[in-house]
Amino acid sequence: MTASLFPLFADLRNRTVLVVGGGAIAARKVERLRAAGARVRVGAPELEPGLARLAASGSIEHLRGRFAEAWLDDAWLVVAATDDGAVNRDVARTAEQRRILANIVDDAELSSFHMPAVVERGEVVVAISSGGAAPMLARRLRERLEGLLDESLGALAALLSRQRERIRAHLPRIADRRRWFDRVLDGRVPELLRHGQHDAAERELLDALDASGATPATGSVALVGAGPGDPGLLTLRALRVLGEADVILHDHLVSGEVLARARRDAEFIDVGKQAGDHRTPQERIHALLVEHARAGRRVVRLKGGDPFVFGRGGEELEVLHSHGIPFEVVPGITAALACAAYAGIPLTHRDHAQSVRFVTAHAKDSLDSLDWRSLAAERQTLAVYMGVAGLDRLRARLLAHGRDAGTPFALVENGSRPEQRVVTGTLADLPERAREEAVVSPALLILGEVAGLAESLHWFGAKPLTPRPPALADAA
Ligand code: SAH
Repeated sequence: MTASLFPLFADLRNRTVLVVGGGAIAARKVERLRAAGARVRVGAPELEPGLARLAASGSIEHLRGRFAEAWLDDAWLVVAATDDGAVNRDVARTAEQRRILANIVDDAELSSFHMPAVVERGEVVVAISSGGAAPMLARRLRERLEGLLDESLGALAALLSRQRERIRAHLPRIADRRRWFDRVLDGRVPELLRHGQHDAAERELLDALDASGATPATGSVALVGAGPGDPGLLTLRALRVLGEADVILHDHLVSGEVLARARRDAEFIDVGKQAGDHRTPQERIHALLVEHARAGRRVVRLKGGDPFVFGRGGEELEVLHSHGIPFEVVPGITAALACAAYAGIPLTHRDHAQSVRFVTAHAKDSLDSLDWRSLAAERQTLAVYMGVAGLDRLRARLLAHGRDAGTPFALVENGSRPEQRVVTGTLADLPERAREEAVVSPALLILGEVAGLAESLHWFGAKPLTPRPPALADAA
């Protein structure tokens, strides 16, 4: 379907616009037209009091009587706001013959232009149209945009327009200008304007312009947590940093939906491969971070979950620190928190668990180095980040150190993603259940009394896969 309306913003200053009708609706249209600087002529037998006052003071011209073609002389546009269908049709037809665009209030068919719903912030105007099909929808959208668009937008537009020549002279190349704008608009200038500090905002802008000469010698690195997959779980800060990035080095755990929210023309480097394949060695990742930052780029190192939870984020920062490269860290929602939430499992609970431990058990060595006696304690929750291959060893050790075989578990595969699966059971049959349901990576194990709540508190995605009672299993 093609759009049937062409949006345009008209300069009506000192141009004559005819409004046919003298009632309340006409008065509203007159107000908008006058605000745009139009020379307004109102044709109607009678004027409502507000319009009558405007006519008396000479602010508008009043043509008394029934619509006549001569009213259209010199007009650029005409708005018909009468409750007389015949008059409205007459206006539409005559205007069409004279190639004057006409808006017939509440009649999309007869109109050759529409008046959109608008949100205004100084010179910045957002206009919304539903092509006359659903004015209520346009109105709702307008309300939402009102809330979304900062009050300082108008002042910002005014400031940029005042300094336009200077900005262009300083930054003749459009690509440089765009980069500079991005930085300035994400910096303190809008904030100062919001706080009503217009002079300080202008100074800040000019300082930024002076400092813009060359690209900075070093760029920077943001170590960013991408969360578990659902882009709704990104922080606002992560979104902003992703929108500004020149280069993004990401893991295999980062979902496509999250990457889709990054700056389109950033360079994407996949430094992770599916489990089993060889990943980009950590030293190579370090080298890439340093190399891109040194070239003056804004680098984002994007990791699944939180970068400081089993993400080797600390090592990467140590390297950046030793090379004097500026960095920041944007936390993300770690898999344990996301999987627990999306599986309906409170990690702590007054009745079931007073503590929670985040554990990783990827390699045999890491299993050996854990303090199993304390991990096997009751009334605590284990959130185990691991490959599914280690479950046999995990069960053996927990049982050997006294954890009850009847302790419930939930394995959350692809937590927070549309394909999420939750497999439940008890410690006694943990690895068997995982094999039965063919659980694959990424999966997080939640083990502890709280896992028993998964079935009743489930709210997201498919129902948990629970063990079948033996009788039913036999019958099947
Ligand atoms: N920094 C990451 C963890 C990296 S270790 C974080 O904070 O979440 C990788 C392990 O995290 C995987 O083996 C798996 O156990 C877990 N994991 C990450 N994302 C997951 C997801 N969406 N669903 C289930 N487990 C996940």
